[in-house]
Amino acid sequence: RVTDTLAKEGPSSPSYDWFQTDSVVTIVIYTKQKDIGLDSVIIDHQDDSFRAETIIKDYSYLVHIGLSHEVQEDFSVRVVENVGKIEIILKKREKTSWKCLGHPLENDNSLVPKKDTGLYYRKCQLISKEEVTHDTKLFCVMLPPSTHLQVPTGQHVYLKLTITGTEIVKPYTPVSNSLLSEFKEPVLPNNKYIYFLIKIYPTGLFTPELDHLQIGDFVSVSSPEGNFKVSKLQELEDLFLLAAGTGFTPMVKILNYALTYIPCLRKVKLMFFNKTEDDIIWRSQLEKLAFRDKRFDVEFVLSAPTSDWNGKQGHISPALLSDFLKASLDKSKVLICICGPTPFTEEGIRLLHDLNFSKDEIHSFTA
Ligand code: FAD
Ligand code: NAD
Repeated sequence: RVTDTLAKEGPSSPSYDWFQTDSVVTIVIYTKQKDIGLDSVIIDHQDDSFRAETIIKDYSYLVHIGLSHEVQEDFSVRVVENVGKIEIILKKREKTSWKCLGHPLENDNSLVPKKDTGLYYRKCQLISKEEVTHDTKLFCVMLPPSTHLQVPTGQHVYLKLTITGTEIVKPYTPVSNSLLSEFKEPVLPNNKYIYFLIKIYPTGLFTPELDHLQIGDFVSVSSPEGNFKVSKLQELEDLFLLAAGTGFTPMVKILNYALTYIPCLRKVKLMFFNKTEDDIIWRSQLEKLAFRDKRFDVEFVLSAPTSDWNGKQGHISPALLSDFLKASLDKSKVLICICGPTPFTEEGIRLLHDLNFSKDEIHSFTA
């Protein structure tokens, strides 16, 4: 057993070590934190360069090594949660004994505030593209076998394409592939597929190019970002979701997570604002879910309905909100999530403050 690198920052900072058998090399990251999961570590290796970024609270701990020998493309990851240990098991190409793991690359063994790290991208293949509404599609991309990455609930990634010689980058929020299939994240390891609901703006800069990609083409996907934490959902009794247009996307995983993992949850209510009925994303899935799970209710509000619409109308307003936001019990623990066009979100936050909801009870998704 060889100790390759020890902590530079004293006993409480993370460190890593490695060991080997005939056929595998195991890299062990000691985070010294308890709330570590499979979505806490992002691993990429290309040729002989190995990169593992571990998110520890608001910090990023990087292991970045030029490996001394070749390994196979795929690898496995295990997390020992109660001690905060991450094990990455690389398969040797040849059954030789390694004298050293390799040489440190840029920023190896460094712990820096996450906000100070740049985004890292890997190329993902477009697997499928499916129409959801007249202008919105469900895109599925596949991570390379040499990447381990799980986007935490409530977080987004950046997609990057080179358009006429210029790199264009826009943020998108991964969703589950459906509201009705069994929700497996973040339990399922090695999940290689990422789904996005993306609205194509005909005069937009990025989305028409994305829409022109063929199945099998590549798009670069960044590591996740965002300040929502699922810990906000712990002990929650009432969850209210206010979504407008594609502002629905962060709600998808939050909804699935809450219904699956929060036992004390009594009610989840979604108020979904759109221009017309044709714009409503996953309407029949939402209605089926409401039928199937009595804890979930959905209300659609249209800002430009046709004359035969019998449902709620207009923009976000005090009247709509005060009626909608009735908690299932007095003093129940409440969270309100809001996302949509900036004027919608800003107006919503203002109205929620007027209705005496505290900052802790509101989470807004913004740029
Ligand atoms: P843009 O070029 O930005 O144009 C968008 C629209 O505005 C077009 O109709 C365009 O004609 C019009 N426009 C552009 N400039 C002007 C102007 N100066 N004056 C008037 N009109 C103008 N979108 C999704 O579909 N799904 C998601 O999951 C998603 N997640 C997001 C997550 C985050 C954190 C954020 C901040 C945004 C998210 N978005 C999402 C929005 C997404 O990032 C893009 O803004 C969107 O796809 C539009 O990009 P575009 O380059 O195609 O259009
Ligand atoms: P849209 O133009 O179809 O509008 C949907 C609804 O939003 C309207 O029916 C209306 O009720 C409301 N709305 C629109 N403009 C409003 C205004 N000025 N005041 C009050 N309410 C208003 O929406 P879209 O084209 O789907 O756009 C969705 C927006 O959500 C985009 O701006 C996108 O960037 C944003 N988004 C943000 C995130 C995030 O920050 N995490 C994620 C996804 C989408």
